[in-house]
Amino acid sequence: MSDEERTSTMSTQTTIDQQHLFIGGAWVAPRGGHRIAVISASTEEPIGSVPEATNADVDAAVAAARRAFEDPTGWATWEPERRAATLERLADALDARGPQIARRVAQQNGMPIAIAEQTEAVFPGLLARYYAGLVRQLPEAEDRVGLLGGRIHVRRGPIGVVAAIVPWNFPQVLTMFKLAPALAAGCSVVVKPSPETVLDAQLLAEAIEESGIPEGVVSIVPAGREVGAYLVSHPGIDKVAFTGSTAAGRAIATACGGLLRPVTLELGGKSAAIVLDDADLASSVEELFGATLLNNGQTCFLGTRVLAPRERYDEVVVLLGALADGLVVGDALDPATQIGPLASARQRDRVEGYVATGRAEGGRVVAGGTPAAQDRGFFVRPTIFADVDNRATVSREEIFGPVLAVIPYDGVDDATTIANDSDYGLGGSVWTSDPERGQAVATRVQTGSIGINHFMLDPAAPFGGVKASGIGRELGPEGLAAYQQLQSIYHPPAPAA
Ligand code: NAD
Repeated sequence: MSDEERTSTMSTQTTIDQQHLFIGGAWVAPRGGHRIAVISASTEEPIGSVPEATNADVDAAVAAARRAFEDPTGWATWEPERRAATLERLADALDARGPQIARRVAQQNGMPIAIAEQTEAVFPGLLARYYAGLVRQLPEAEDRVGLLGGRIHVRRGPIGVVAAIVPWNFPQVLTMFKLAPALAAGCSVVVKPSPETVLDAQLLAEAIEESGIPEGVVSIVPAGREVGAYLVSHPGIDKVAFTGSTAAGRAIATACGGLLRPVTLELGGKSAAIVLDDADLASSVEELFGATLLNNGQTCFLGTRVLAPRERYDEVVVLLGALADGLVVGDALDPATQIGPLASARQRDRVEGYVATGRAEGGRVVAGGTPAAQDRGFFVRPTIFADVDNRATVSREEIFGPVLAVIPYDGVDDATTIANDSDYGLGGSVWTSDPERGQAVATRVQTGSIGINHFMLDPAAPFGGVKASGIGRELGPEGLAAYQQLQSIYHPPAPAA
């Protein structure tokens, strides 16, 4: 049994009221009395609540993680094959819960269910399987002949106890970006979900229990930023992995810097979608939507600055305006919905504030920009700004909502100069009829990842940012290396015969 989950029916919703925290491999009573209540982003009705973890719960989680990590026969010492097989059982348990995960995420943060079913439902299992395959494939140690004649045994051991702090926009996918490679490496992990999305974390805990991962290797502490900050600086933590805003990332980097604690930071973005003069945008509308507006604009890698050649500027503006006007805005649980509500009232107000600033600075609204038709839920109409340059606030700051700025450019040099004139460098895309030309332009953009005629990150390749978009990489073999510690063991040269 996972937790004594109580479900009750309230108006049209079923609420999930969880009584215990998953700490040290067991469902335990919380040490504090506060609860985190979650409401539906689409209806504003209550959908559930969980106990809020306190610093004392974090202490218990970290202590359990340390015990598990230091156990002489524990997870960290298991043969790669045994860890891989366990990760595959975790993948099965996550896959089995995929539809439930998708539904809970959609209810909480407003992600359209059709998108949740393609991401939150499937990526977690995919990632667990991918890293199971990698630990089987990649040796955890190798012997080298030293320059001085000795033998050197070079080990890639687990880095230790990891604090994984995740945001609400893709809660399960971004948790597994950290958990899958950390577990594959042999680490123990304390996961801190964001308060907006705590209900899906319970499903992850159930899957962990079912997989046979030993007690204490994974604990989950739902809480806000203060408890998050306590976890980051906890003396029992060896590494921090964070996804979230650049502001929080700076605070975490400062704490980790003082402690000389390794940290991976996946932060905000303001990426450029560069439309080249030979682009056939009309036949790439679906890909363009995925690269610029996915998940109601609440996706860190989106190309929210669309750079259009001046001679095709009007045409691109009209096409984007028609795209935005044609999107189905509605309840996140409706399979036809393309744009759901934003995750919270705070997020909606923030995005509406940016739309007002965009107008005040002289931007021309060609789609959206007016209050949403829905009388409840945190909806914002997809909004396109034309006649803005790269200095406008809507071109410089991460809005994290369905708002695009279309900026004209003169020639490819100008396009890459504008693309690179940003505090951020996370994603981006190039649109062209000539993929080789697109790739040549892509290499000139200062960014951690970029797509040609689409953008979809792939678990096999490193993902992360440059500049204010972060430090370090997740995914790919590089994502596994981020949870490994190198150790060189020197053996002396053999004595001369
Ligand atoms: P946020 O930074 O406010 O919160 C993210 C998480 O960090 C939450 O769990 C929060 O409780 C915790 N937190 C906040 N301050 C903390 C601190 N000082 N110490 C420890 N924990 C702290 O961000 P958000 O509003 O939840 O998420 C949206 C942001 O995340 C956007 O800016 C977006 O671009 C970014 N994001 C980046 C990526 C990426 O891969 N680069 C992916 C998704 C989201």
